[in-house]
Amino acid sequence: MTEQPHAQLDWDEHGQPLSRTFADVYFSTTSGLEETRYVFLAHNQLAERFAALPAGGRLVIGETGFGTGLNFLCAWQLFERVAPETAQLHFVSVEKHPLSRSDLQRALALWPELAPLAGQLLDQYVAVHAGFQRFVFAGGRVILTLLVGDVLDALPQLDARIDAWFLDGFSPAKNPQMWTPEVFAQLARLSAPGTTLATFASTGFVRRGLREAGFAVARVKGFAHKWEMLAGAFQGAAADGGKPWLARPPRPSGPRQALVIGGGLAGCATASSLAGRGWQVTLIERHAALAAEASGNPQGVLYLKLSAHGTALSQLVVGGFGYTRRQLERLQAGVDWSACGVLQLAFDAKEAERQARLAAAFPSDLLRTVDAGEAAQLAGLALDQGGLWYAEAGWVHPPALCRLLASQPGIRVLTGSEALELRRVDGQWQAWQDQQLLAGAPVAVLCTASEVRRFAGAEHLKLKRIRGQITRLPATAASQALRTVLCAEGYVAPPRAGEHTLGASFNFQRDDLALSTEEHADNLGMLRQISPVLGEALHIDQLDPAALAGRVAFRSTSPDYLPLVGPLVDAPAFKLAYARLAKDASLPIDTSAPWLEGLYVNCGHGSRGLITAPLSGELLAAWLDDEPLPLPRAVAEACHPSRFLLRELIRGR
Ligand code: SAM
Repeated sequence: MTEQPHAQLDWDEHGQPLSRTFADVYFSTTSGLEETRYVFLAHNQLAERFAALPAGGRLVIGETGFGTGLNFLCAWQLFERVAPETAQLHFVSVEKHPLSRSDLQRALALWPELAPLAGQLLDQYVAVHAGFQRFVFAGGRVILTLLVGDVLDALPQLDARIDAWFLDGFSPAKNPQMWTPEVFAQLARLSAPGTTLATFASTGFVRRGLREAGFAVARVKGFAHKWEMLAGAFQGAAADGGKPWLARPPRPSGPRQALVIGGGLAGCATASSLAGRGWQVTLIERHAALAAEASGNPQGVLYLKLSAHGTALSQLVVGGFGYTRRQLERLQAGVDWSACGVLQLAFDAKEAERQARLAAAFPSDLLRTVDAGEAAQLAGLALDQGGLWYAEAGWVHPPALCRLLASQPGIRVLTGSEALELRRVDGQWQAWQDQQLLAGAPVAVLCTASEVRRFAGAEHLKLKRIRGQITRLPATAASQALRTVLCAEGYVAPPRAGEHTLGASFNFQRDDLALSTEEHADNLGMLRQISPVLGEALHIDQLDPAALAGRVAFRSTSPDYLPLVGPLVDAPAFKLAYARLAKDASLPIDTSAPWLEGLYVNCGHGSRGLITAPLSGELLAAWLDDEPLPLPRAVAEACHPSRFLLRELIRGR
C-alpha cells in the first residue's frame, strides 16, 4: 500500500472547497446540487430507472472521483424518493485523495437538505484507508464501495457490472490522468450494453477516447452557463467472466431464503449481510446462545496483522478493519467495545525491524512508530519498549457484535439446534439433527469453522484447529491505569466489567476444552514480557495459575492463513473437469465449474475473525447476489474455497 495523502483543500469566500493539488473546484460554484442533478442524475435517466426497478432489483453506479460525496448523496436521495422499498443501490467510487473527516463535514454542511444522509456518511467515515472500503447504509438498501487509490490501480481490481457512470475527476485540462484511454478501457470492461455515462466534460480527446472504448456519446447542453457536456451509452460487448473455475456461479433459483449454520461471528455476519439484502435467513446454532465458541471471549483485539508487501491477506485486513470499525460505531462504547488504540510492542530486534518496514509502507493515520516514552504515555503506565501505535484500533466484546449482527430484521435464530447433516431435496438444502428436520432453504452457508468438513461437499477444505486459552484477571486499582491494548507475543486489554483479558495461548497438541494450568502460566509469562509494571500491578507473582479463571476455544486456520469465503464445488467433478490444468495452467478451458448449487462457506478466520469475518459476510453476499465485490478480485480469489483444489491440480498432485 502506498501512502495516499488526504485531499489538501482551500476554502473560497463562499465556503466552497478547492483542491490545492489540482487547482480545481469540487463542484460548481453556482449550485453544486443542481449541477449534480442535471449532469449526472438526469443524463443517466436515474429518476426513471430507479422508479422502474423491480422489487428486489438493483442499480449499480460507478464514479471516478468521490470527492465530497455530493454525487453519491444526491443519487441516494433520489433513490430514496423514487425507488421501490425493496430495491438496492450500489455506488462504487474511486478516490485517490479522500477528504479528512473534518473537511468532509465542512464541505457537506453546505447542503442542509442532504444533512440526514450526510450525517450517516459522516458517522461511518472512519478507518478509510487505501484499498477497497465498504460502507452499508439504510440497513443494506444503499451500499458504497470506495476504492481508495489511483484510478488506474483501483479500477482494474474491481469486479462489478456498472449500470451508470459518473465521470467527475476534475477537468481534463487540469487532471488528464483521469481521462486516459486506459481509464476508458476499464470503464468499458466494467460496462454492459446499455450502461449509461454522463460527464460535465466535453473536451475532444475525452469524447474520442470514450468512443474508441465503445461508448456512443453525444454532446448535449451543459449545466447553466456551460455550453456542452457528454452523455451516452456503452455499445460494445460485455467482457467475459474470466477463468471459469473461479467465475461467478449462476444465481440460485427459488425464493431468497438461506440457512446459515453456525452462530459465531462468521455466521452472524453472513446472516446480517444476507438479511440486509432482503433474504429470509435461518441462523442455526448448536449452543443455547450465539457466540459460544471462538467468538465468545470477553474481549477480542482489533489486531492488524499486516505485511509491507501488500499481500492479499494484508489487503483483506485493511478493508476488513475499516468495515468492522464502521459496524462497531453501533455498539455501546466502553461496554461492548473501546476505540482505545492498540500498541504492538517492539519486543525484540526482529519485531522492531518488521515494524519499521510497516511504518514505511502504511500511512501514519493507520499506524505509526512510537518510542518507549510516548508508548508509556499512551498506555498510561511504564513500558520498556516502543512499538507501533494503531490509534483507531481497540478491543471488542465479540458476543455483543454477534448479537448486533444477528438482530437484523429477517433473521430467525434457532439456538440449541445442531445441524449434523445437509440433504439436498427438491432444490432445497435441508438441515437435519438426527431424525429431526431443523429447516430448509435453497441456499445454505456453512459457518462452523473447522467443522464445516463434516458436511458432504466440504470435506476437501483444508482447515486445522489450534487451541487457545485466555486468562481473566481481576483489575486492581493500579491496573486500571492501562489505557490501551498492549500486544507482544500475547495481548492484554484494559479492563471490561472489572476484568482484564490476557491471551491467548497457542497449543497445537491438545484438542480438548479443559482449562490448562500451563497455558495460564504461559499467559502470565506473556504479560511479564509485555509489561513487568502491569504484571506487578496485577500481583501476578502471587497468583496460583491453577486457580485462575479463563476460557478455551479453537482458532480455525487454513494453510495460507486466509479465510474460505464463497461457493463450493463438487470436488471430484472439479478435478476431472480441470485435469488439463495440471499439464498447462495457461490452457483455455471453458467448462463451467461443477458448483454445488446454493452451497457456500464462510470460515477459517483464525484469530482474526473480528477483522475478517464481518467483511466476509459482505463478500459472501456479493457472490450470492452477483453484486460488485467488496474486495479486489485477486483478494476474493485468494479467499476462494476452490483454491486448494486448484493448487493440487496445478502441482499435479
Ligand atoms: N464527485 C465528487 C463530489 O461529488 O464531490 C467531486 C469529485 S472532484 C471534482 C474529483 C476527485 O477526483 C477529487 O476528489 C480527486 O481527489 C479525485 N482524483 C483526481 N485524480 C485521481 C486519480 N488519478 N485517481 C483517483 N482519484 C482521483
